[in-house]
Amino acid sequence: MSRVYNFCSGPAALPEAVLEKAQAELLDWHGKGVSVMEMSHRSEEFMSILASTKARLTRLLNIPDNYEIVFAQGGASALFAQIPANLTNGFDSACYLDTGAWSTKAIKEAKKYTNVVLAGSTKDVSYTSVPDFSSLNLDEKAAYLHLTPNETIGGLEFADLPETNLPIVADLSSTILSREIDVSKYGLIYAGAQKNVGPAGVVINIIRKDLLARSNNDALPSVWSFENLAKNDSMINTPPTFAIYLADLVFEWLETQGGVTAMEKVNVEKAEMLYSAIDNSGFYSNPIDVRYRSRMNVPFVLADESLEKTFLKESEEAGLRTLAGHRSVGGMRASIYNAMPIEGVKALIDFMQAFEKRYG
Ligand code: PLP
Repeated sequence: MSRVYNFCSGPAALPEAVLEKAQAELLDWHGKGVSVMEMSHRSEEFMSILASTKARLTRLLNIPDNYEIVFAQGGASALFAQIPANLTNGFDSACYLDTGAWSTKAIKEAKKYTNVVLAGSTKDVSYTSVPDFSSLNLDEKAAYLHLTPNETIGGLEFADLPETNLPIVADLSSTILSREIDVSKYGLIYAGAQKNVGPAGVVINIIRKDLLARSNNDALPSVWSFENLAKNDSMINTPPTFAIYLADLVFEWLETQGGVTAMEKVNVEKAEMLYSAIDNSGFYSNPIDVRYRSRMNVPFVLADESLEKTFLKESEEAGLRTLAGHRSVGGMRASIYNAMPIEGVKALIDFMQAFEKRYG
């Protein structure tokens, strides 16, 4: 077996120790003679996995008691609709911050359910920066303020939150568990699993309990109701059991690594190494405002665009997989989530420097 360094933006690399444990337990989970995939979701065994997953996430993110963890399906894209469908009941509008491709998609879906107030946008600078939080266009009577703190495609990240009384709804799909956050500052956090959490198929939602009553809307599909999901421990119907089990193993691994604080330290180191390699060359460049460069997704372009195909072919041959930028923007992108070891980033930098020597 030979594993490569996988820079895919998602589904992304998982920690090897997690895959090995899943492999060891694949046919016979804890001596029960069955795989987790074959267990009833209502069995005592699976209920213990679900409880463990929630307990570990609660510890990792220090989630206060007045929040519920709800597992949903349909990807974060389904949440783009599910959130306004649940939370705008009794409100005339919702505010959205527009900072890139993913917030644009969230806005498009929200418009089907409510009036979207554009709180701020950096479209005019091709999403290379973040709107000035002191002059946002906020409707204080809106249902919430939605933002995307890490734009996976553009490679833009911001950690500070605007000052507002509105509940903040944040798409943390590509940044959850990579840095410390104060959950109590959010009304709802949601994140598709396939970057920092586990395999695709489950979306984590951490929702403040007082917002659950807003789901009281007869037109809302029952499987979409946050209130219903919370009441039924995410088991209105069959949940994605294997994806939840893998998330539990990833959370266990994170705890052995020292939790989010330790992860953040490594993530800062990895990102600084890679950005400084880019900045110190005249051959590679990254367009994002340095204050808002993503620690998770690092897009870069080559001074000579005609070398892109060669770069991708040779990097793949060197065991550095999936470095192509998103199909909508081209260029390169290295996604360096929690599971990417520092050695992987060093290997990428060595390759980039050798490539520059050969072709620069
Ligand atoms: N939001 C962000 C920030 C993402 O990066 C992605 C996918 O990459 C999505 C939403 C959509 O996730 P999904 O494909 O699970 O619907």
